[in-house]
Amino acid sequence: MAPRHRAFSIALPREWGHNGAVHVDGSCFCGALRFAAEIEPNRVGICHCTDCQTLSSSAFRVSVVVPAEDFALRDGEPAVFEKTAESGARRELFFCARCGTHLYGAGERAGRTFYSVRVGALEQRRELRPAARVWCRSEPAWLANLADLPRIETQ
Ligand SMILES: [Zn+2]
Ligand SMILES: [Zn+2]
Repeated sequence: MAPRHRAFSIALPREWGHNGAVHVDGSCFCGALRFAAEIEPNRVGICHCTDCQTLSSSAFRVSVVVPAEDFALRDGEPAVFEKTAESGARRELFFCARCGTHLYGAGERAGRTFYSVRVGALEQRRELRPAARVWCRSEPAWLANLADLPRIETQ
């Protein structure tokens, strides 16, 4: 896969080093698309930006930044939407045309191609605790009080 555009919107904080990569497997809801990656768990981050809220149909999105050489599409051909940010930066967003699951975005930063893999599509998502949050100024205020809500173990 050869992404064609330039910007990558989730910055890599300087302190995000290489603490040991782990293998992850991803797929869309219907199973038509499958991918695998070697990720650094400390690169898992939450994005509160309004684009991520809309694109995930949720309050925020959890992603992990992966250099292109550590990512492999295994099955299927994802649909792609090219997004242009306010800054003019463009990114490709890949999703399943059949079931609609968003799987990853692609861009370039400092001359290297990165993928931003959506952690919700990973088998190992429960073990991947986010290490940072960005675009917090767009975070809904109620997120800070989730612990106050009644909890029900199933629907
Ligand atoms: Zn699908
Ligand atoms: Zn975002």
